[in-house]
Amino acid sequence: MQLQDTSIMFALAMAALIGALIIGWAARINLEDQGARYWSWALLVLALSFGTQLVPSWNEPTVRAVTFNVPVLIAHTLWLIGVLEFCGRSGHRRAVLLAGAAMVAATLALTFVWPDRPTRIAVTALSALALRFTTALVLWRHGERGSAEHMVARAAALTLLLECSVIVLHIINGLRGVIPVVGSQSGGAAMSTWIGSLISILISAPLLMLLGTSRVVARLQQAAHEDLLTGLLNRRGFYLAMAPLWAREDRHHRDINVLMLDIDHFKQVNDSFGHATGDQVLAVVGRVLRETLRGGDIAARWGGEEFCVLLGDAESGGAQLIAERIRKRFSEGCAQIAELGSRRVTISVGIAHGTPEAQRFEALQERADEALYEAKQSGRDRVRFAA
Ligand code: GH3
Ligand code: MG
Ligand code: MG
Repeated sequence: MQLQDTSIMFALAMAALIGALIIGWAARINLEDQGARYWSWALLVLALSFGTQLVPSWNEPTVRAVTFNVPVLIAHTLWLIGVLEFCGRSGHRRAVLLAGAAMVAATLALTFVWPDRPTRIAVTALSALALRFTTALVLWRHGERGSAEHMVARAAALTLLLECSVIVLHIINGLRGVIPVVGSQSGGAAMSTWIGSLISILISAPLLMLLGTSRVVARLQQAAHEDLLTGLLNRRGFYLAMAPLWAREDRHHRDINVLMLDIDHFKQVNDSFGHATGDQVLAVVGRVLRETLRGGDIAARWGGEEFCVLLGDAESGGAQLIAERIRKRFSEGCAQIAELGSRRVTISVGIAHGTPEAQRFEALQERADEALYEAKQSGRDRVRFAA
């Protein structure tokens, strides 16, 4: 093998190995998403296949067919399965695995049982083309228009299509019988193999890394801003979401309402029915708030059994209506919890009304808290307005 080939092989093996490690790391962090795990394996298999090309004594064509073509097909199959998993279409995994196994079997048969080099080149390349094209198609259709994931997926799909065009060239060269034995000489028709590999390792793999790690970051951000039990925001998430809402209402000189909610006698609920039932009650608040509030409003679990809601663009009458609806729906929701038997669980709400120009959020919230205290004092299960 010439030095030029050896250097390319070594660089590709290293790049694939590093890619496998980075994607494997991302997959370990984001356990909910297993797509990246397959990509990591795919790159590891590719790294091995490039690595084996560096062994001079394995120069014989039939050995190369096994150490190069077969791992490449396995890697492309794993790559496609990973993409399907990542895009939420894991139902096709079995079919892809079977197709990949059939392609590997055909390549091996055309190497050892019916050795026929031109047919083997054509069958292997067509198999690779089918796998790469399907992967490109799945990625092309992935994600919501305008989202970062969608754009990266489309870029990855385009590089795969570029790779497909190189594979087509390879097939044409194979049919013309002008592809030299791998490693025997460089340049010319043999270059299509390297160019295809270069595209997939140096462009497609980093894009997969970007796709995988951007999802990890999104999940971590979500975990940092969300309360797991209720699915509502936590305080950190609330403050982040509040800034643009506050600025928007300020710009349009609109009213704003802060609601503070607190479950009544929640300690008794826990004591009488257990913590797990208490958790179900907390989850009801999350569900009711999500169902009752409008898209622009924000709601957070402020701590324990206390919640804070910010209503944009609402008159005080409108806020009262929404608060009453929440109070009613919460009790109805709790009535569905079998463990509570006939025990009624209620919630109290305090509201403060103002404008973003006149008050800071903290001042409004303090008044909403005072109103909540009043609601508790006057018998609970009610809505009170701040004076
Ligand atoms: P009040 O009507 O005056 O609000 O009385 P309360 O019993 O609701 O208020 P208190 O502050 O005395 O009790 C709050 C309880 O909320 C105590 C705490 O154990 C419980 N709690 C806080 N966080 C959780 C949680 O995540 N799960 C469960 N099950 N209980 C929680
Ligand atoms: Mg309480
Ligand atoms: Mg409380």
